[in-house]
Parts: sequence; C-alpha cells; structure tokens
Amino acid sequence: MKRPLILLIALIFTLDCSAQQKFTSATDTFVLVVHGGAGGQRRGQLSPEREQMYINGLNRALAVGYNILARGGTAMDAVERVIMTLENDSMFNAGKGAVFADNGMNELDASIMDGKTLNAGAVAGVTTVKNPILAARYVMEKSPHVMLAREGAEQFAKLNGCSIVKPEYFWTTSTRNSYINQHKKKDNGIDKGKKSMLLQPNNQDEKYGTVGAVALDVHGNLAAGTSTGGMSNKKYGRIGDSPIIGAGTYADNNSCAVSCTGWGEYYIRLALAKSVCDRVELAGMSVNEAVNEMIYDKLQNLGGDGGIIAVDKHGNISIEFNTAGMNRAYIKWNGEKQVLLYKD
Ligand code: ASP
Repeated sequence: MKRPLILLIALIFTLDCSAQQKFTSATDTFVLVVHGGAGGQRRGQLSPEREQMYINGLNRALAVGYNILARGGTAMDAVERVIMTLENDSMFNAGKGAVFADNGMNELDASIMDGKTLNAGAVAGVTTVKNPILAARYVMEKSPHVMLAREGAEQFAKLNGCSIVKPEYFWTTSTRNSYINQHKKKDNGIDKGKKSMLLQPNNQDEKYGTVGAVALDVHGNLAAGTSTGGMSNKKYGRIGDSPIIGAGTYADNNSCAVSCTGWGEYYIRLALAKSVCDRVELAGMSVNEAVNEMIYDKLQNLGGDGGIIAVDKHGNISIEFNTAGMNRAYIKWNGEKQVLLYKD
C-alpha cells in the first residue's frame, strides 16, 4: 500500500510545482507593446500625412508581432521582427531614418533580452548593419558575449549573415537636412554659448524616434528590445541607454519586460529598465506603479525626459512618458488595440 501513497504524494508535488511555474506553460494570453520614440511632438505640429505615416508604421509593426504571437510564436521572435519592421521604416530613428552623429555618420545601437533565460545581446555604434536588432540577437545566441561595439560588432554581424549596407543607406532627406541645419547654426554662431545640443534640456523638438517592443507570449515568457540611432547630433562615439541591458532594455519572467526611449544619459544613470523590474519583483509594486515612479519621480527629478513601455508576467501593460508625445501602440490576444502619438 506504500507505493500508491508515494505516487500520490509525487503527483500532488508535481501539480503544486506546475502551478507555481504557470508562467512557463501555454495560455491563450499574449500582449505586444511597441514604441516609436518619445519627443516634443504636439498635436497639430505634424502634417496629417506624416501623422498617418507614423500610425501606419506602428500598425504594420503590431500586425507583424500579432501574427507571430497568435500562432504560438515566442516573445523573442515577436520583439525581433517588430523592431526590424520599424528599423526598415524611415519614419523612425532606428535603422533607415536614424539621426546623424556630429561627424555625419549614423551610429546605431540595439539590444534584446529574453525574460525566460535572462540571456541578452546588444550592439553599439554600428554604421553598416541594416538591422542592428538582429545583430544584437545573434550576439546573444551565437557568441559568449552580451555586447559588441563598432567594427567588431560589424564584423561579427557580417560573419553571421546579417545584411550589411553602405552608410548612406540610413540617410533620408529629412535627417540629412536636420543634420545640415544644425551644422549651419553652429557655423553661424547661433548655438554659441549654449551647451552641446545633446545637453540642452529643451531639445525635445529634436527627433527622438527610437523604437522598442515588449511582449508576453502564450508560453508565459517575456522579452524586450530597443533600437536607435541615438540622440540627434550626438558626439561621435557616444553610446546611449538603448543597447545597455538594465538601462534601455530589460526582461525577466519574474517581473516584467521594459523598453525605454528618451534622454539616454539619464536612463543609464538610473539603470531605469532594471529599476522598473526590481520595483515589481522586490517591492511588490504593480508594473504601472513602478513605471510611474521611475518616470514622474526619479527621471523627472533628475532632469531627464522620455518614456517607458512595459508588460508584466500577467499581461498588465504600462505606457508612460513626460515628453509632449510618444509614438506608442499595443495589441492584446483578444484584438484590443490602441495606436497613439500625442499626450491628449
Ligand atoms: N534613448 C536614446 C538614446 O539616448 C534616444 C531615444 O530614445 O530617443 O540614445
């Protein structure tokens, strides 16, 4: 009679463990949140055509991610493909359409993180990799490292089959003109006496436009990713928060997945993405409380600006920003969806 009893106890134990592990088992629930950058855009400032182009870009990204997640695909795949879609869209400051550094180059940063394994990958300062988010994923999966930078990252990306393009591929008329105008202003002495553009607290009109995505898949796994050209007219060699795991991107199945956009130096100093996750995991805050505290208390009081998107392991989402606008969108398993550009 002893044996059936042991089997029964083993069964109860197994059931109990699987209840605790419920976020690694399949459900119907999935959520995708996307951002296309926080910045100074107010309603009425963009032409209706440009407004529509941002909305179309976000909708396309949502559709790509939704199709992956609805078929049982992973949060990692959804985040990677969504970000590639936005990198290929010249309206956003990532991949094609990235802003210029002060040396006239487009230096791109990206990172991705898997909340199930805490594996992560990043590239920084690449100038010829068409889709930096893919290179970041390859760093995670095909190297023992978390981050590769500049020529080393480019060489690695090429060796692993990423598309390599000429630096001019990233140019658009709008980003080129903005770069030229900034330099004209500098040459004419208009910016004389001011701190560098990067350090001006009121440079919200400059294009931010970084892209990011966070997702919860039907297997209960979270992922986050971010990709950017950085801040307009940044110093050659400057690296922002976007490729830094814990600053611009973080994902942990025990708490949430976070992608940031905004004035990167502040996000680095606050280890912002990881701080959101810690508040959820260690302080027991809801994801929305954690995001609110980091944006409206910590970031704002330090003098920084920008936004955060986050999704927790239950599928609760939070989207907050202290700039005038933020390109943002989400879609849930049940088709609930929103695409927004402005605060109001
Ligand atoms: N956070 C990015 C950076 O500082 C810029 C942005 O999100 O717009 O590089």
